[in-house]
Amino acid sequence: MQSEKTKVGVIGVGHLGQHHAKHYDLRENVTLVGVYDTNSNRAKEIARQYNTRFFDRLEDLMGICDGVSIVTPTESHYNVAKMAIEDFNCHVFIEKPITETTEQADDLIKLAKAKNKLIQVGHIERLNPALTIFKKYNLNPKFIEIQRLAPYTVRGTDVPVVLDLMIHDIDILLSLVKSDVKSIHASGVSIITNSVDIANARIRFNNGTVASVTSSRVAKNKVRKIKLFQENLYTTIDLLLEQTEIYTITDDPSLIPDVLKTEPFTQNNEKKHIAYQKPNLDKYDMLGLEIKNFIASIKGKEKPIVNGIEARNALDAVIKINNMILEDLK
Ligand code: NAD
Repeated sequence: MQSEKTKVGVIGVGHLGQHHAKHYDLRENVTLVGVYDTNSNRAKEIARQYNTRFFDRLEDLMGICDGVSIVTPTESHYNVAKMAIEDFNCHVFIEKPITETTEQADDLIKLAKAKNKLIQVGHIERLNPALTIFKKYNLNPKFIEIQRLAPYTVRGTDVPVVLDLMIHDIDILLSLVKSDVKSIHASGVSIITNSVDIANARIRFNNGTVASVTSSRVAKNKVRKIKLFQENLYTTIDLLLEQTEIYTITDDPSLIPDVLKTEPFTQNNEKKHIAYQKPNLDKYDMLGLEIKNFIASIKGKEKPIVNGIEARNALDAVIKINNMILEDLK
């Protein structure tokens, strides 16, 4: 029944999984039926915090859920998701990256289709208000520059920087450019870990769009910026500060809402203006919105903002980038 509460569980309640549990607990149309973690003390602690049960056996939790969040280390995503979909008919919300390999992602997508189950993937940056503001714009970027820099922490360094950090930006890039990838050139280096810590990829799309994506986990400060250039429009998107600045070339700045400044100039003997906007962005909890989207999708009211196929395509691209870097380093 539509009004029935959706029963969910969280598998893996570490750093990020605890927040999945919190957001399910906050939603009125959801029952958090329990949590499971291979570290049973951690499962007990989180279960106590959100007044739910902890399970010793994954099967017992999956058996009573409509949907589960899978927030375990990436290496276990495939097996846990396969079991949830295949054996227990559960919808799955898998944290990014969807799986370790493209083949595993393909297998899950096929399985979910056969079982009529949803796969949603936690590419959370897609919900960033600094980016979602562009739903109102007709974007057709010619050049995109993306930078994601982070100070070194042990968390996430079990995988190369491309799979840990760059995958966020590749997913955003593939959502911004409505064209297939034509070519990729990539290079990178190891500085601290045994895998690639700094990477750059130059990606050309069939429609002519060019992108340069840089990711590093050896930086003093965090940076998460996108610069996007298209005919008559330049924008800087700061995903960290959740700020967007837009410069538009226009004949008539009065037609653009909330213009803060204009600068006149002459182009081909015509008088034009550069109009500057810094839109007021909505403020919301992005994970909370992802969880709301998952529940609404289970109820058939929405579609996952990032589905299994999109997450698979982002994974496929980053694996290619990483392999190219490793080849280049030989
Ligand atoms: P974490 O190590 O803090 O937590 C993982 C938890 O899973 C631990 O409590 C561990 O005991 C448990 N666990 C391990 N194997 C398990 C299994 N087979 N079954 C059940 N529990 C198991 O890690 P984290 O930082 O919370 O990351 C978890 C996942 O979330 C990773 O895939 C990571 O890439 C992803 N992640 C995504 C984002 C994002 O921005 N979307 C941010 C951080 C992490």
